[in-house]
Amino acid sequence: MMDRRQFCRTTLAASVAAAIPFLPGCEKRVPVATEANTSIRGISLGGAELELEKAAIKELGESMTGPVLLSGHPDYDSARTIWNGMHDKRPALIARCLSAEDVSQAVTFARERDLLVAVRGGGHSWPGKSICDDGLMIDLSQMNTVTADPETQRAHSQGGALLNALDTASLEHGLVTTAGVVSHTGVGGFSLGGGFGRLNRKYGLAVDNLRSAEIVTADGKIRRVSAEEDSDLFWAIRGGGGNFGVVTDFEFQLHPFERNIFSGGIVWPIEQAKDVLEFYAEFAAGLSDEMYIGPTLMTMPDGTGVIAMDVVYNGDPAAGEKELEPLRRIGTPVQDGVTMQDYMVMQTNSDVAFGHGVRSYAKNGMVKEWSQGLVDALLDAYNGDPRIFITNHVAGGAVKRVGELDTAFPHRNAEIMLVIVSGWMDPAQDKDAIAATREVYSKLDPFTGGYYSNIDTDRAKVAGNYGPAYERLHAAKGQYDPGNLFRLNSNIKPG
Ligand SMILES: Cc1cc2nc3c(=O)[nH]c(=O)nc-3n(C[C@H](O)[C@H](O)[C@H](O)COP(=O)(O)OP(=O)(O)OC[C@H]3O[C@@H](n4cnc5c(N)ncnc54)[C@H](O)[C@@H]3O)c2cc1C
Repeated sequence: MMDRRQFCRTTLAASVAAAIPFLPGCEKRVPVATEANTSIRGISLGGAELELEKAAIKELGESMTGPVLLSGHPDYDSARTIWNGMHDKRPALIARCLSAEDVSQAVTFARERDLLVAVRGGGHSWPGKSICDDGLMIDLSQMNTVTADPETQRAHSQGGALLNALDTASLEHGLVTTAGVVSHTGVGGFSLGGGFGRLNRKYGLAVDNLRSAEIVTADGKIRRVSAEEDSDLFWAIRGGGGNFGVVTDFEFQLHPFERNIFSGGIVWPIEQAKDVLEFYAEFAAGLSDEMYIGPTLMTMPDGTGVIAMDVVYNGDPAAGEKELEPLRRIGTPVQDGVTMQDYMVMQTNSDVAFGHGVRSYAKNGMVKEWSQGLVDALLDAYNGDPRIFITNHVAGGAVKRVGELDTAFPHRNAEIMLVIVSGWMDPAQDKDAIAATREVYSKLDPFTGGYYSNIDTDRAKVAGNYGPAYERLHAAKGQYDPGNLFRLNSNIKPG
């Protein structure tokens, strides 16, 4: 069961250091391919059964510096384990890549055989898109290094790095860029689909901070893309997800940052949620770019309901105190933990509550602005189910100032990215927990326009969700992945 007590303890006290269970390392090359006794079963992109010859797998193993893992190898099970415990799949082979050249070999192997491909960055895809049965898993988990350069104020992140590494490397030099709120999430999927975080009102989304990338496209070519080189492809990967290839290096803009920051949580009993939300709905419209405040409605294991505000002020603390003051006067909070503290306390305070192995389901929708109707719907949707969080990311500010078609991220007008997340441990609850999450979401859906493809990846109507950006995405897909090799994502069909 997702431990709500822990969540609250960590959120409210904001005092838990990151505890990130990295996958075990593979220090030396293990030529497992040579140990395969027979050909193994694979599956094609279209779902047909394939035979993968021992000689070909051996050749792939010999062409890579990282190992190829088959079932039975000591690292196979840990390598195929992703964050969401609901997705227990068994790839035919796992190419544990250590370089862009390794990725290129693996991509070529799959393309030549029409073999289904899953690409694993940080492994946090809610619907489990980074793993597949009987296909090839391109595993980037060992490509996890981030370096930050104080001179250029840029960071380079390998394709399988986690957000914790991005924050840590940048903060070391008094710099930062937008990263998400659970530090064991992958830079890869996060940055390709959008990338919301507590600093996005000031610095924009992750896609807005991406300056260049190294990407292996379906033809196996390793390309450096930027506004100057392969600019169509660079545009497409800033919102188009993993549709266009495997990104092996992300180059981000960093910003000078004081890590001791005015931040924390304020919590009220759920009985005060109406007053708090009604006030917040107006208050949110006037927030400065420095201020990030978002509400969450949730229930503790003992049945106590709360509304909690996540607060981060990225600027002069005195100005932050002043801006927050009217909200602090609403109702009677049971806890007000907003104080001066290290930014990483906030960035890691949900790591335990959203720990690896939890079974989880999420729905989401983009909302243009706060309204009384949305407040009423939230109050109606909250039902005391301790498995379900109703939360949101606060957009607006710099996110909104980027032109609608400047990147492929399609929801610049939305002020709110609503997220309904559930977590449980018992597989017997899967059906019920998913239905309960959908039921809560159905009450909020009328207020949404489109969805965040990083969360609701399995939704139909991908074209409609991308709106006017779709045509260009469709054409780029046709150019760079005409066979739709990269299809385990919010899939854009080749033009
Ligand atoms: C606990 C949790 C917290 C989250 N918090 C936030 C948040 O604060 N803000 C936010 O915006 N989102 C958040 N998300 C959503 C998150 O952005 C997506 O789940 C994202 O896809 C995770 O990326 P990943 O690399 O960890 O996932 P993976 O499962 O590895 O991959 C997800 C998708 O991206 C593709 N992909 C991953 N890496 C690469 C790469 N290097 N090259 C090409 N394709 C790649 C995969 O093939 C797959 O289709 C959160 C998700 C979880 C589970």
